[in-house]
Amino acid sequence: MRIVLLGAPGSGKGTQAKKLVTDKHIPHISTGDMLRAAIAEGTRFGQLAKPIVEAGDLVPDDVMLGIISERLTQPDAADGFVLDGFPRTVQQSRDLDDLLDQLGTPLNAAILMDLDFDILIKRLTGRRTCSTTGKLLNIHFSAQSELDACTESGGTLVQREDDNETVIANRLAVYRKQTEPLIAFYAKRHLLTSIDAGGSVDEVYGRLLAAVS
Ligand code: AMP
Repeated sequence: MRIVLLGAPGSGKGTQAKKLVTDKHIPHISTGDMLRAAIAEGTRFGQLAKPIVEAGDLVPDDVMLGIISERLTQPDAADGFVLDGFPRTVQQSRDLDDLLDQLGTPLNAAILMDLDFDILIKRLTGRRTCSTTGKLLNIHFSAQSELDACTESGGTLVQREDDNETVIANRLAVYRKQTEPLIAFYAKRHLLTSIDAGGSVDEVYGRLLAAVS
C-alpha cells in the first residue's frame, strides 16, 4: 500500500497515519517529523530548515526531493508507506511521480482529509504534546481528565513552535496557495478520495480504512 495523505495542517494526517501504519506494518513517512528531528539534532540541514519551519514557510522543493528520495529507497519502504506532509507543492508531486516511476512502484491512492476551516484553527491553536508521555492532546477538545493526567504526572503541555497564531495563519495561507492544487492533480490521475476528517479519531479512522480498502 503506497498512500499520500493530503489535507491542511490540523486535519489529523499525523494521527491517522500513525494508526494506519500500525495496522498495515508499513512506515509512516512524515517530512514534518523528519525536519523537526533534524532541527532538534542541530544538523547542517536542520539549521537551514529551522527558520523556514518556524515561519510556517516551505523548505525548497529540491531539498525535499533529496530527503524523500533517500527515505523512499530504504528497504523498509519497499512494501509500502504512508506519506504525511509530502508532497506539498505541484512540483513535489511531479518529483514523487518520477521517483516512484523509476522505482516501479506507483502510488495507490491520495486521501484528502477534509475539514472545516474553523475546526482546523481550533485543532492547531489548541494542540499540545504531553512532555512526559508524548501523548497528543488538545486544550479545546481533550477531556479535562486527560489534560490533568499529564500535569499531575509531572509533565507539561508543550506547544509546537509553529502552532502560534501568526505562524498558523501563514501555514494555512501556504496550504491554500501551494498545496491545494494537488487535489486537482491527483483527481486528474484518478487517485483521489476525499474523506470527512471531522469527528472522533476512531470515526475518521473508519472512513480512512474504507477509503484505502
Ligand atoms: P508538518 O508537521 O507536516 O505540518 O510540517 C511542519 C513544517 O515542516 C511545515 O510547515 C514546513 O515548514 C516543513 N515541511 C514539512 N513537509 C514539507 C514539504 N513537503 N515541503 C516543504 N516544507 C515542508
